Amino acid sequence: MEPQRPPLLEVKGNSELKTPLVKASSRLPLPGSRLKRGPDQMENALEPAKKRTRGLGAVTKTDTSRPRVPPLSTVSQTHGQTTAQKVPKKTGPRCSTAATAVLKSQKPAPAVPAQKPGTSAAPPPVVTGKKPGKRPAWDLKGQLCDLTAELKRCREKTQTLNQENQQLREQLREAQEQAAALGAARSSLEGELGSVRAQAEQGRQELESLSARVLELEDRLGTQEGLVQELQKEQSELQEERRALAARLEEQERRLQVSEASLSSSQAEVVSLRQETAAQAALLAERGDRLHGLEMERRRLHNQLQELKGNIRVFCRVRPVLAGEPTPSPGFLLFPPGPAGSSDPPVRLSLSRSDDRRGTLSGLPAPPTRHDFSFDRVFPPGSRQDEVFEEIAMLVQSALDGYPVCIFAYGQTGSGKTFTMEGGPGGDPQLEGLIPRALRHLFSVAQEMSGQGWTYSFVASYVEIYNETVRDLLATGTRKGQGGECEIRRAGPGSEELTVTNARYVPVSCEKEVEALLHLARQNRAVARTAQNERSSRSHSVFQLQISGEHAARGLQCGAPLNLVDLAGSERLDPGLALGPGERDRLRETQAINSSLSTLGLVIMALSNKEPHVPYRNSKLTYLLQNSLGGSAKMLMFVNISPLEENVSESLNSLRFASKVNQCVIGTAQANKK
Ligand code: ADP
Ligand code: MG
Repeated sequence: MEPQRPPLLEVKGNSELKTPLVKASSRLPLPGSRLKRGPDQMENALEPAKKRTRGLGAVTKTDTSRPRVPPLSTVSQTHGQTTAQKVPKKTGPRCSTAATAVLKSQKPAPAVPAQKPGTSAAPPPVVTGKKPGKRPAWDLKGQLCDLTAELKRCREKTQTLNQENQQLREQLREAQEQAAALGAARSSLEGELGSVRAQAEQGRQELESLSARVLELEDRLGTQEGLVQELQKEQSELQEERRALAARLEEQERRLQVSEASLSSSQAEVVSLRQETAAQAALLAERGDRLHGLEMERRRLHNQLQELKGNIRVFCRVRPVLAGEPTPSPGFLLFPPGPAGSSDPPVRLSLSRSDDRRGTLSGLPAPPTRHDFSFDRVFPPGSRQDEVFEEIAMLVQSALDGYPVCIFAYGQTGSGKTFTMEGGPGGDPQLEGLIPRALRHLFSVAQEMSGQGWTYSFVASYVEIYNETVRDLLATGTRKGQGGECEIRRAGPGSEELTVTNARYVPVSCEKEVEALLHLARQNRAVARTAQNERSSRSHSVFQLQISGEHAARGLQCGAPLNLVDLAGSERLDPGLALGPGERDRLRETQAINSSLSTLGLVIMALSNKEPHVPYRNSKLTYLLQNSLGGSAKMLMFVNISPLEENVSESLNSLRFASKVNQCVIGTAQANKK
């Protein structure tokens, strides 16, 4: 595009030149037209020439001072610039190369000989128009001479003009050729212009589409910039986060290093501790063996101690006088101190009774008879439940060592048997009886023994034997209170172990469970009481706890039952009294109770005397307890006494029975070890 621009400008310049060229040619006289004029016409012909000369005076002058200028330059005067000024000068930047080429092709006009500027001031008379003074009419010769001269000048001028004309024609032709060339150039340039315009149009369209594209791209750029800003923001956030993470990582690494350092030191410590542990384990094993030996020794000594105390022991407990009861006369019940004085626990009891019959025989009131009894231990009325338990705790523990244990509460109704076994009313922990205390003690000792490798389990049952029938006190649901009949059977053929059919055997491992069982038993008794008055006092309640211990590591097992028996009231009915129809049943009950209690006494005697036959089967009670009586068994009997004088007779009966039992010594106990 760029290199083609100059021709465009040249075309414009040429088109401007066109019109003057035509005008110039129209002003030129036709060749030969003046030559045909006659001398007369010369004057006339000269007039316009003169006019022209005058009009072009300055030009003519100028023309003489330089080479002939082509008409094109003359024409350009119409634009306010003289040829004389333009031609000698170097073509300016506005001159096209084409125009320059045209001008160069023109030959310089040789027609008018160059005149010196100084000579133009002395022109010939014709040229200047100053005629010589008029010749006298007579001077014809002179006139002719003038005319001849004039003619000669005209001819010369004509000749000059012809030559000029010829030149002009030549110039015209050249100019026409030039015009044709320029036309061709113009058309080619127009073609070029067209193609350039087409290109320009295409360029414009392209530009437009590019502009649209640019706009679109700008739009996209804006979006992208927004995106970039967002991304930059995000990046800066991420960088911030990364910095924070890097800081954290650094911190963690630092901690890790610290941890690794401490770990390696810990590992070293672990190694040394392991060695120490191994040494300690060996020591522990050795000590375990020793401890086991000591434990076995303890059991042996404990048993020896129990044996020394007697495998049958009798404790006497006198309940306090209850509110509303008559205060017994002083000296009715006495607790003489032991040989070591009052610091010794009491083991003796003295009961005074006035014998009415003796008084009748002599006629004088007989002095009260003093009955002295001594037992393994005597608990006066003020004794607390925990004091009582303390005395039997070691015996209870014997059950864990594998010795069957039986603890009985014997005495007339209202003497405090149930209070001693189960506890007082209202759930007061201080009034808790032997059963809950014994179980709590067993659980805690079993827990301690677990440290030595012993594992114990406990299963409880609670039955009552009423009128020689066995009923479950732990019955629930529809059997609750009804106490469906149960039978005492051997656990299996050839087995020594006895079990009560239809009775619940409940595994227990904590006090709460035992409490729940005692509560259930109380409920069952209460329901039964409504059906048969005061049955509870006329039945034996047997709480049995099967204890199983195992030392897996040493392959040892031991197990023994602990029996806590609340016996039926030992009172006797006076056989001399007339009995009503309802009392006959009561007599039967009483006979059954008496029979079972005396059987218990007989069994103990037979065992004591090592008789070949022990009448276990004579009562359900002795039959049920046969594995816990005699042999390796340990037995403790509480004889509960009422402090009231009115109960003196029954108290004496109880004390006598208990004394007999106390005299019995059952053979050396052996633990049930497997
Ligand atoms: P049993 O069972 O021999 O028939 P209980 O145990 O029912 O006699 O006792 C009869 C009453 O005497 C109950 O009210 C009981 O609370 C009360 N009792 C018995 N022994 C004591 C004692 N050691 N301390 C306080 N109260 C007692
Ligand atoms: Mg009772």
